[in-house]
Amino acid sequence: MFTIDAHLDLSMNAMEWNRDLRNTVFEIREREKGLSDKPDRAKGTVAFPELRKGNVGLVVATQIARYVAPDNPLPGWASPEQAWAQTQGQVAWYQAMEACGEMVQINDLASLEKHLALWSDTAIPNEQKAIGYILSLEGADSIVTVDHVAKAYEYGLRAIGPAHYGPGRYANGTDATGGLGPQGRDLLKEMERLNIILDATHLCDDSFWEALDHFHGNIWASHNLCRSLVNHNRQFSDEQIKELINRGVVIGGALDAWMMVPNWVRGVSTPENMNCNLEVMLDHLDHICQIAGNANHIGIGSDLDGAFGKEQSPYDLETIADLQKIPDMLLKRGYSQEDIEKVMHGNWLRFLRNAWK
Ligand SMILES: [Zn+2]
Repeated sequence: MFTIDAHLDLSMNAMEWNRDLRNTVFEIREREKGLSDKPDRAKGTVAFPELRKGNVGLVVATQIARYVAPDNPLPGWASPEQAWAQTQGQVAWYQAMEACGEMVQINDLASLEKHLALWSDTAIPNEQKAIGYILSLEGADSIVTVDHVAKAYEYGLRAIGPAHYGPGRYANGTDATGGLGPQGRDLLKEMERLNIILDATHLCDDSFWEALDHFHGNIWASHNLCRSLVNHNRQFSDEQIKELINRGVVIGGALDAWMMVPNWVRGVSTPENMNCNLEVMLDHLDHICQIAGNANHIGIGSDLDGAFGKEQSPYDLETIADLQKIPDMLLKRGYSQEDIEKVMHGNWLRFLRNAWK
């Protein structure tokens, strides 16, 4: 079944992990044997051949670069200008992948419909189809000034998550506290003017509620799970989920093990001993459906290449192609065929067609 994944950090993997995503997951793992500079070396699950194998024809793909003040212990750049330059390298990689026919940027209704027609043509093998990507920015620190948003729109940026982990220049993110401040509100105003989607993922509670109060454009949550199942500020509370549903938001289910099962200890827990499988993610999505009373607000936003690999993914997922196991699992849970299609792609498409109409 045609599948949309609303959160992958493809260019970060290409530029910082030095992965040529045109190779298979298994070729990339082979080349990384013996490396230990990243926790997920030789354990990656995402590459173009596996996206095609899994019918994942459209993804939301990020630019990502954090600014860190001298007292911020998180990894990041020493100035917003350096962070901006890092994201421009990432754009250059997406453009290089377009030039060799591997990817195609989807940035309006016409390009979306054309791309869907290509992927629904079963006479053409997936190997010959470019992977569509919608460009998103995870954490807005690299936006040097609000004027840079229009520059980014020009090269195709269509969604922004103002925050990532920790304190941000425009909003505060996971594990941080505090609101948006005037700069954050200016950012939202400019996003609204340009019809850029607000990604509510990673906003800390203070920034989340302030952003929802001030932003009148389209909102999604690209990769998120539920606080009532795994209690952490990175997750949405039921109150947040209710408000998001009221605003027509689609929430992408993430496949990062620590968000899926309680009490995960990084580097110690294993998917097997924590019983972390794909069904667990569906428990979270099902929880959102129970709150909504329907299956109109969930999709997939796997985050499977977000600085982790098999060591922190469901044990029944070898590569991203295994997302194709989800339709059967939903069927066994009693979801209708129509609802299954909504989860795999339909809800994101409804959202995008409405946002870009
Ligand atoms: Zn993230």
